[in-house]
Amino acid sequence: APVIQLAGLTKAYNVGTPVETEVLHGIDLTLAEGEFAALIGPSGSGKSTLLNIIGLLERPTGGRLSIAGRDTATLSEAEITQLRGRSIGFVFQFHHLLPAFSALENVMMPTIIARGRPDDEAEATALQLLDAVGLKAHARKKPAELSGGQQQRVAIARALALKPRLILADEPTGNLDTHTADEIFALLREFNRQANCACLIVTHDPRLAARCDRIVRLVDGRIAEDDPAGG
Ligand code: ADP
Ligand code: ADP
Repeated sequence: APVIQLAGLTKAYNVGTPVETEVLHGIDLTLAEGEFAALIGPSGSGKSTLLNIIGLLERPTGGRLSIAGRDTATLSEAEITQLRGRSIGFVFQFHHLLPAFSALENVMMPTIIARGRPDDEAEATALQLLDAVGLKAHARKKPAELSGGQQQRVAIARALALKPRLILADEPTGNLDTHTADEIFALLREFNRQANCACLIVTHDPRLAARCDRIVRLVDGRIAEDDPAGG
């Protein structure tokens, strides 16, 4: 089954008020397992809104939305939260690491929340992930003791902690220099290939978009183009 399936999806803000505005108009989009797609488009075109809806952080106003084979219309809030936790890893430009906790504790956090307590296995998995992103030696450091690129690596390790089927990344390299951006992108690509995890990445960087499998371009709340990228 596709990881993302949207049909005729719409989103309006301020519904039922005089300033009601529809910002997504009938979006059809399917992302298969293991697909690695860029979501591009001008500022205000609806990229963040679409990503938030696919990430089950916001509800659509109309149309159909299935994530990991589940039709979300039939799910309760609790089931939505569970589906989000089990299926989706988020990577944002501003990574929202918890400043009071070490890199290791930040990476363990989704597992602790899912299981209700810390355990040895959660710690072992988190250490493996930090090793995979090249940060094993920094596991006990707090976010403020790490560079921007290192913090973003921690955020990626955290996003992967529960083995998601889908990674959603909103400008994951937006505040990084070119070299670090390339490294972070390569890491996402590597996990995509290893775990066959689907990725949808919002980016303003045409260089990175060209290295995805597919480029979806949003203009004024509609998909204006959906083409294979350079690879
Ligand atoms: P982006 O970098 O994606 O263009 P924006 O600066 O447009 O982000 O928006 C930042 C946040 O503010 C988003 O989470 C969005 O939901 C919210 N937002 C954007 N436009 C409005 C608006 N007109 N009214 C209320 N919230 C808004
Ligand atoms: P992008 O990420 O492509 O910059 P957004 O999804 O942030 O676009 O915004 C798409 C449109 O929706 C914009 O016109 C924005 O002002 C509007 N918008 C976003 N969030 C809100 C909100 N919470 N309330 C009202 N309007 C919003």
